[in-house]
Amino acid sequence: MAKKTKKTKTHTTIKATKKTGTVKAARAVKALKAARKPATPVRRPASKPARQSVAKAAAKSAPASVKKYVYAFAGGKAEGDRTMKDILGGKGSGLAEMTNAGLPVPPGFTISTAACNLWYAEGRKLPQRIEDEMMAHVHKLEQAAGATFGSTDNPLLVSVRSGAKFSMPGMMDTILNLGLNDAAVEGLKARTKNGRFAYDSYRRFIQMFGNVVLEIPKDRFEHEFEAVKHAHGARVDTDLGEGGMQETVERYKKLVRHETGKAFPQDPVQQLKMSRDAVFRSWNNQRAIAYRRIYEIPDNIGTAVNVQKMVFGNTGERSATGVGFTRNPATGAKEFFGEFLVNAQGEDVVAGIRTPRPISELADVMPKAYKQLRAFTSRLERHYKDIQDFEFTIENEQLFMLQTRSGKRTGYAAVVIATDFVAEKLLKPVEALLLVEPGALSQLLSPMFDPAEWKKVPVATRGLPASPGAASGQVVFTADQAVAWTDQGKTVLLVRKETAPDDIHGMEVAQGVLTATGGMTSHAAVVGRQMGRPSVVGAGALQIDEKAKTFTVAGQTVKEGDYVSFDGLSGEVKIGKVPTSPSEILQVLAGKLKPEASPIYQRFHTLLGWADKVRTLGIRANADQPDQSELAYAFGARGIGLCRTEHMFFGEGRIEKVQRMILADNEQDRRAALAELLPLQRADFYGVFKAMHGEPVTIRTIDPPLHEFLPKREDLMVEVAKLEATGADPAALASTRTLLRRVEQLHEFNPMLGHRGVRLGITYPEITEMQARAIFEAACQLAKEGFKVTPEVMIPLVGHVKELRDQKIIVNRVAAEVMKQAGVKIKYLVGTMIEVPRGALTADEIAAEAEFFSFGTNDLTQMTFGFSRDDIGKFLGIYQERKILDRDPFQSIDTVGVGQLVAMAVEKGRKTRPGIKLGVCGEHGGDPSSIHFFHKVGLNYVSASPYRVPVARLAAAHAALSVKVGD
Ligand code: ADP
Ligand code: MG
Ligand code: MG
Repeated sequence: MAKKTKKTKTHTTIKATKKTGTVKAARAVKALKAARKPATPVRRPASKPARQSVAKAAAKSAPASVKKYVYAFAGGKAEGDRTMKDILGGKGSGLAEMTNAGLPVPPGFTISTAACNLWYAEGRKLPQRIEDEMMAHVHKLEQAAGATFGSTDNPLLVSVRSGAKFSMPGMMDTILNLGLNDAAVEGLKARTKNGRFAYDSYRRFIQMFGNVVLEIPKDRFEHEFEAVKHAHGARVDTDLGEGGMQETVERYKKLVRHETGKAFPQDPVQQLKMSRDAVFRSWNNQRAIAYRRIYEIPDNIGTAVNVQKMVFGNTGERSATGVGFTRNPATGAKEFFGEFLVNAQGEDVVAGIRTPRPISELADVMPKAYKQLRAFTSRLERHYKDIQDFEFTIENEQLFMLQTRSGKRTGYAAVVIATDFVAEKLLKPVEALLLVEPGALSQLLSPMFDPAEWKKVPVATRGLPASPGAASGQVVFTADQAVAWTDQGKTVLLVRKETAPDDIHGMEVAQGVLTATGGMTSHAAVVGRQMGRPSVVGAGALQIDEKAKTFTVAGQTVKEGDYVSFDGLSGEVKIGKVPTSPSEILQVLAGKLKPEASPIYQRFHTLLGWADKVRTLGIRANADQPDQSELAYAFGARGIGLCRTEHMFFGEGRIEKVQRMILADNEQDRRAALAELLPLQRADFYGVFKAMHGEPVTIRTIDPPLHEFLPKREDLMVEVAKLEATGADPAALASTRTLLRRVEQLHEFNPMLGHRGVRLGITYPEITEMQARAIFEAACQLAKEGFKVTPEVMIPLVGHVKELRDQKIIVNRVAAEVMKQAGVKIKYLVGTMIEVPRGALTADEIAAEAEFFSFGTNDLTQMTFGFSRDDIGKFLGIYQERKILDRDPFQSIDTVGVGQLVAMAVEKGRKTRPGIKLGVCGEHGGDPSSIHFFHKVGLNYVSASPYRVPVARLAAAHAALSVKVGD
């Protein structure tokens, strides 16, 4: 670190390329990365001439072809550095980097992740060659530390610490004070003249070794320790003296013999090998596996093991140990943040045995060490150019650094830190962008719980975190009830088994939507995200009785009107009321708060401004209504990628007209009903066009099967039976019967693959005609009023070029008629969705007619896998558990299969029509890793739900800077 040459080089590279736009920015980041990384991979066999002298030197101790598995760090020099996380793990690379920087790091060595993988591959043992390599490092460490394993006057004690590439806090195991035995403990006592400390260290070692290596449950040790404390009248461990600690050691050793049938191992080398293997083994403990699953960390990367000379925070009142962050990880505020304990060892701070003190108090207790710590950690932050999460120990007033890594932070803190780093001239905007994970931005748009209040209530169950945000309200079970209660001034939470399009009005007013079934792309999830409504879906533990208006979960019954709260970011559901407050950013966008009054809004705005300069992908939104479109524009969408016209059919007073259109059994009646819908659709389109300020608006013609607009067959049958029984209203009976008959006619076995999409337009051309008329009349009207409009008419579900041709003729004819009538000319496009595999396969033919493609990746995924997107929840969990699928393909695009169809269609489409416009409007358009893929295959834009637009802008910038998500 702090190598002057490296730093200056980095800065000049960036300065030189700064002035110019995106490409240069990307190059700057590449240059930066190159400057950080050695030009050639560190462990590549030295075959190039330039490296031959190095190879020769290495060959003296080992042949050049022999792979290195153990890396030393000691005395200001390390064999590794920060670029070697893959090999050394995060902890090991941090220790190496700090050592090279001259920080006081106790010496040690790192056994690589490759050794871990080899250990598993060889049936849980290491080849003798690597055992020898390790022992050579043990001897080197003895020299560096000036102490010897097992010595009775100056014993070497070490910690054995796990550390994978990605930090997995608390998931794997660490052992402290290794090297102690019955003789060495006396050596330690003699040397330090501190018997209490020596035996405290020994009992800690037996306890950790006993638990981690010998797998004796922790509470057995706790039990013995408590017994001693009790006997000595001690409240906490620091109350115990040497005698008490000695007694504890005796009891522990007895416990070990009892549990394992063997004495506690006395040979330090044997202790070391056993501990190392236990750390390797802990890579595959339940906790670690579960953690990797949640954070999508690969299982095959293995962990490194760090063996490091011990320093002691438990020698007395002049010693301490602690952890901290260079800034506040929750708010991002520039304040030193952390905790410490006097006279304690590592784990004590987090273990909660004693309550740690705020780190600011360290300034009073040990001012010199505190000042040094501040200096070191700020230096680390400047060096890594990121907030650092560090560990330290003070031994007799002397400070040692034990760990440093990038600190985990909330979305809010990420934005604050990134913008602060630029203001502090620590980073250039392009670099700062990379400090914010795109997905984390959605946390800033969601209402939030007061964290202290939220903690107080226990978790009742967990569902899929479909749409982020905090929701708390009185439970209702129907959309109508949601509206009625909201009108009365109540705040409601809509709970449904699953939602359907006709629940929209209820979803609109509810604080949040909670469903028992459905996946991340179920109706409730998609609509929830689109509306920015927090939602948790597929909470399978909810036993909902919609008739009785109750549900049970975790042994509790919740009635209509009871309070329930959930967090759409974590999926946690709790019974009870927890206060929330709306996102400041939304308040600004809604005009309720001045931008100047909201620092977080300004930072958010600045950051996304930087992203816009870097990205090459266009960002559009999926929106159906004028108000949604306005919001999308305010979020930075420049165009609508998908306007689903059928969502407009559910508006007030509309569904009856739609039903009349569907029920018509002849063209004339149908046209009459359509004529009534025309002005309504025209008004919507007018509003959407206007909200987009001339940016392109892609309007999709009707897509879902018609029966979705009619009442359920079962409900109608009940209704008919009732009317028959009373016989009071023959007219109602007749019309309900007609409705039932039509519903039965429309019934389909497989509606997703049935009479929908372009198939409707072909069988009922008058629907397409009406929709095209509404689009162009609205557009012409605006044009006459002096506004710019760019309509793009999109035909869904096309698998054959002739389907598109059929519809395009209608659209073009109507467009010509309307424009002629209005006396204006408007530029427009006609294109198609690519969402049927055959459409992708024949994209070259389709491109002859289509002026644009929009990839409908929801249907394309559904049809390529043959997974119903509404039913995947039934088996996805097991698929992921068995590692058949890593991720939900409806959430993150399957680049190998579905992605191949996209890439092929891009290529074929451009071959036929080089200027063809290409975008994506499936849910994947708002998913960061999918956005990387779309950037790579060369789409022109992605379209996401309005609330995902900021995420998409940042993800597109990351993609342009070609940084892999999660790296
Ligand atoms: P984790 O990854 O769970 O934090 P660590 O390997 O960092 O595990 O170690 C656990 C605790 O022990 C930390 O508080 C750390 O600072 C402390 N520790 C580790 N090695 C040493 C050492 N050589 N000397 C003193 N304390 C140590
Ligand atoms: Mg640690
Ligand atoms: Mg579709």
